[in-house]
Amino acid sequence: MNTPLSINSIYRATEGEGQNLGQTQVFVRFQGCAIGCVNCDSKDTWDFPLTGTMAMGEVLAAVIKQDIGNSKRVSITGGDPLHPKNTPSVLELVKELKGRGYWINIEAAGTRIVPEIFDLVNFISFDFKTPSTHVRPNRDLFKKLHEQYLGKFQIKAVIETREDFEATYNFRDELFPEGHNFSWFLTPSYNLGEDFPLERFQNVIEWNEEVGGPFRVVGQQHKWLFGPDKKQV
Ligand code: SF4
Repeated sequence: MNTPLSINSIYRATEGEGQNLGQTQVFVRFQGCAIGCVNCDSKDTWDFPLTGTMAMGEVLAAVIKQDIGNSKRVSITGGDPLHPKNTPSVLELVKELKGRGYWINIEAAGTRIVPEIFDLVNFISFDFKTPSTHVRPNRDLFKKLHEQYLGKFQIKAVIETREDFEATYNFRDELFPEGHNFSWFLTPSYNLGEDFPLERFQNVIEWNEEVGGPFRVVGQQHKWLFGPDKKQV
């Protein structure tokens, strides 16, 4: 495929949240997202460029250059890498990276399952969108994810309010009444321009404990270290 890819940035950083916390990897951030979470901290990734910005060879060269320890770990993120405008490029990139022995995570907004990509990647990080995002989660997608990709995915939910927590808890209770057998993370929100939200963090831990601790509460370490506004960390 010779079509250029719509890339926002390619950089090396240490994973700051979820199951792969602390793991150094190269992030390939795609440009373009039409989901519109109201509390999005990456609105600079929303616009779709008229044409792609980097050729596949340039993307691969940038990944290899950033991967100084040869960890061969890449996280494909966005924007929305699973928007139909991005999926052909993402699929091609996944194939190229797999062919070079890379372990690949895809950051999925939780609004689409793209089997040809999900089947190939090593790990899927799937968002549960809470009420404060104003995006409605689709039950069927979560069922399908669980049926087809158990063992290679995590769910992440950003929690801003008690309503967010309860919506996540109730959704889980309806979908998995017997409990769930995968990692489901609650990420207390840490919004742009905000001081460290200690009270929110403590509340989320307490709410989770009150119902028996079905979730894992893990914050965004990179924001504690560098502040909520810093990019590429
Ligand atoms: S899916 Fe991600 S990039 Fe898109 S609006 Fe939501 S938080 Fe922002």
